[in-house]
Amino acid sequence: MECRQCHHPLRVERRCRQIRLQCTQCKKEYHIHELASELDSAMEKELERFTCIIYD
Ligand SMILES: [Zn+2]
Repeated sequence: MECRQCHHPLRVERRCRQIRLQCTQCKKEYHIHELASELDSAMEKELERFTCIIYD
């Protein structure tokens, strides 16, 4: 997954019961549902580790 703004890689950021995808470069945060249609298989696997977390 890469940032829509700067195309740097996103990493999973865990906040209490929420998770966000945050850009490693410009620090823009994305909600999971914003990127739901674009998630690649690697990112989906990463997110599977957080199944107990509420996706808001
Ligand atoms: Zn970015």
